[in-house]
Amino acid sequence: MYMDDLKIFSNTEKGLKRQLRCVENFSNDIRMRFGLEKCKIGRLHRGEWRQMDGHQLTQHSGGGKITTLDKFETYKYLGLAQARGIDSISVKTLLTERFKERVKHILKTRLAGRNMATAINSYAVPAVAYSFGIVDWTSTELDDLNRTLRTSLTKFRAHHPRAGRERVHLPRNIGGRGFSDLRICHKTQVERLQKYFHQKSESSALHRAVTGLDRSLTPLMLQVTHYQCDPKYSIFELENQWRGKELHGRYPNLLDSADLDKPASVGWLTNGNLFPETEGFMCAIQDQVIPTRSYLKHIIKDPTVTTTNCRICGEGHESVEHLISGCRILAPKDNVAKIVHQEIAFNLNLLKEKCPHYRYSPESVLENEGFRIYWDRTIQTDRTVQHDRPDILIYDKANKVVTLVDVAIPAPNNLQKKEREKREKYIQLADDIKQTWRVDRVNIVPIVIGAMGEIPKSLKTNLTTLTVKPGAYFEMQKSVVLATCNIIRRVLNQPQLQ
Ligand SMILES: [Zn+2]
Repeated sequence: MYMDDLKIFSNTEKGLKRQLRCVENFSNDIRMRFGLEKCKIGRLHRGEWRQMDGHQLTQHSGGGKITTLDKFETYKYLGLAQARGIDSISVKTLLTERFKERVKHILKTRLAGRNMATAINSYAVPAVAYSFGIVDWTSTELDDLNRTLRTSLTKFRAHHPRAGRERVHLPRNIGGRGFSDLRICHKTQVERLQKYFHQKSESSALHRAVTGLDRSLTPLMLQVTHYQCDPKYSIFELENQWRGKELHGRYPNLLDSADLDKPASVGWLTNGNLFPETEGFMCAIQDQVIPTRSYLKHIIKDPTVTTTNCRICGEGHESVEHLISGCRILAPKDNVAKIVHQEIAFNLNLLKEKCPHYRYSPESVLENEGFRIYWDRTIQTDRTVQHDRPDILIYDKANKVVTLVDVAIPAPNNLQKKEREKREKYIQLADDIKQTWRVDRVNIVPIVIGAMGEIPKSLKTNLTTLTVKPGAYFEMQKSVVLATCNIIRRVLNQPQLQ
């Protein structure tokens, strides 16, 4: 056994020698040897370092010398450099470096979005967070740590520099990215430690004494019983700041629309299986900070941008909304319709097995004894009908029911209107089918998903009507998010023609 980590300080040399003798006798009694490189002594007189020699151990104690601690030398206790007190500057520099290193290390992995956030929160953040409440961090320093995290994310293309910064630190179930906010971590930990000491003081004399002494000895300031960190550091406040932003705030407010299913609409974030790069890009699209011509002209006020006409179709204003839902040339490919078709066909025993939707090409007609399904086919009618080509038509022979399915991926603020439009669009066709096919009922089921992944409350009901399990919206949403990112990437790769 070794006597390690022995640190003795004293006012006078005499006092120091006396303490050392006690320790030596004690170690001899219990047959412990000194781990010399970990032991130090020092002499402090009225707060000043005094020069002195080390202490020569007797042969009985194994010999050797315990050296003195120099004026600027520190030793580590529980991972924190200290001598006369905690050397906060060097501790903070060291911990910040370690935090940066760990963040970089994690960002180099190919983890998916949510796992990336979990890894940073549980491996990089604790590198600094364990010193909260022990070392005094200022709000500015904590802000710097947050900024360090965000700039690292930007470097690895996981966060757009002009996208909302609050969002990076908010939980995923309200539309955030789920990376810890160091200011909030700090506040939570300080409050937790304060609570612990104050509660313990009621029963323990030691804790009561410590609490009584600590006016400003530690960042906890235990003597001030009602000391609280700044109340503005909370998830609630952070979310309010996000909502208050003129441009970035539009999206969180949109998520609260009565017709939207909010938990499902942020499903692509809570599910978190997209790459951080795609997540970051999608957030930038939702925050509307993509350099479209309207953004450059009206927000950045770039004088070289003279027109806001769409660079792809030449009609309409080139805004994010136009590109993802209005531009006739860029209309997203109907992967959602394919997903729905495959699910229905499989459930009605018209398909033996399923494959990933991007490899699935639906048959124009599928039929068995009970059902017939058309994919993207003009329906023969007696009268002239303006809209006679729904995405999917299902004919239930036994029950004499026809279901018309049409898919739309409109701009996020247009979902209800689009759903109504789709229903009205096929009324004429439905009437005609009812008469000529001699069926009892014709249903019209619109499948609408917002181009930024928004899920209307009606979607799950509509999917159930089609015998598709409501959970299928996850796959549809993912394909919409990826399609939208691809459209915007394609546009940004086009030359900026004036
Ligand atoms: Zn266009």
